[in-house]
Amino acid sequence: MQDLIIRRGRVIDPESGHDEASDIAVKDGIIVAIGGDLGPAAQVIDAKGLIVAPGFIDLHGHGQSLPADRMQAFDGVTTSLELELGVWPVARWYDEHAHAGRTLNYGASAGWVFARIAAMTTQQVESSVEGMGRAMRDPRWSHTVANATETTDIIERVRAGLDQGGLGIGFPNAYVPGAGVKEISALCSIAAAQSAPTFTHIAYMSNIDPQSSIDAYTRLIGYAGSTGAHMHICHFNATSMQDVERAAELVSTAQRQGLNVTLEAYPYGVGSSVVSAAFFTDPAFPERTGGGYETIELLQTRHRFESRDDLIAAQAKDPGALILWHYLDVDVSPRHRDLLDVSLLFPGGAIASDAMAWTLDGMTYTGDAWPLPDHAVSHPRSSGTFTRFLSRWVRDRNAMPLIEGLRKCSLIPAQILEAGTPQMRRKARIQPGCDADVVVFDYDALMDRAEFNAMNRPADGMRHVLVHGEAVIADGTLQLQARPGRPVRRPVN
Ligand SMILES: [Zn+2]
Repeated sequence: MQDLIIRRGRVIDPESGHDEASDIAVKDGIIVAIGGDLGPAAQVIDAKGLIVAPGFIDLHGHGQSLPADRMQAFDGVTTSLELELGVWPVARWYDEHAHAGRTLNYGASAGWVFARIAAMTTQQVESSVEGMGRAMRDPRWSHTVANATETTDIIERVRAGLDQGGLGIGFPNAYVPGAGVKEISALCSIAAAQSAPTFTHIAYMSNIDPQSSIDAYTRLIGYAGSTGAHMHICHFNATSMQDVERAAELVSTAQRQGLNVTLEAYPYGVGSSVVSAAFFTDPAFPERTGGGYETIELLQTRHRFESRDDLIAAQAKDPGALILWHYLDVDVSPRHRDLLDVSLLFPGGAIASDAMAWTLDGMTYTGDAWPLPDHAVSHPRSSGTFTRFLSRWVRDRNAMPLIEGLRKCSLIPAQILEAGTPQMRRKARIQPGCDADVVVFDYDALMDRAEFNAMNRPADGMRHVLVHGEAVIADGTLQLQARPGRPVRRPVN
């Protein structure tokens, strides 16, 4: 007897190309059979008229908490990974999350930036976007090339993070413009030796030289060629500024030459970060980015900065405060919509959310209130990235067949991790022997609902979301007690 049969759904498996009405059977959290007539089951889901697909794998989730997981479940995410910043110490992070219990599968890379903060300052900060921002009170780790002793210390801490099962190395290089190429190159060689990918927020974001986005991509491609490391580019849409087409050309040329360079993007023209990020402080910010200080908005108060002095004052007041950054105006500018298209539709690119934590009254919110409190804020991408991409680009605009859209949300991100994390070979597939991380959704009803003045609206369309065979959403309703999420981790040395 099977635990569960999902009956008569349109089952889509991007790897095998299977796309037809079928039943799937689940036992002990594993998909055991696909076809028809799979025998009796303890539970049956009628999926007639619905799509049955692998759960989405988010390579870029900063939330890593109960409310963040729940909002992402409505977006079809079954695995949420913190790879751009990473965490440190890695083993302790996994222990804490196992203890707390997670709705979605979770995991993290070795957090180079936190290793750097620990090695170069006396600050102790939590591994989060806000923690990194608060560490700007003593910014030596951000602005300075590490000396020999510090470099050894940083490398040993990151190496320990990989040995503890970190999924790769996170390089948020733009927050650490002072880091030396020798240090990063040494770490890339270590990553390459361990088949661990690296996840980079490129060093510079600018339309103009010196230190343009193109400079940073060229350097990143150089790391791939010179060290053999797998260099994954985070949020290609956000860091390419107005040079997306040229950046895409550089990346595809590198790929054609066999270099291991991959990328991801999210379907918004507005970013989120901490107010103290080094790239905002650059006195040439307006001419480098093509936008003034009013493009930066404090999340909590929705105050748009009027000048650099205004920004600097906010940094001094609370360097960990979150902001929204309106770097593309996709509502108004057709040119900006085209730029976003190039990054989202890049062949072989993953969709990844860059989902932020939820904030309530200026504090990170990790509580269990559901629905989320009215004034909880984050970024609409924390609630609607995958449904927005699939409904607007794939369904409404027919930018690619549905199976290809689903591939960008599930199989491609899994494949980015597979070389070093064998666990990922059993995810992102509707095949016997694979983890039953499954979404069952109404394609016609699929829609992101979060907006900048209502970020906490869950997306519509997900009818059932299973993590290891257990429902976190059943009949469209969140299962409040569900904590089936398991760690995704490289083998621990
Ligand atoms: Zn991010």
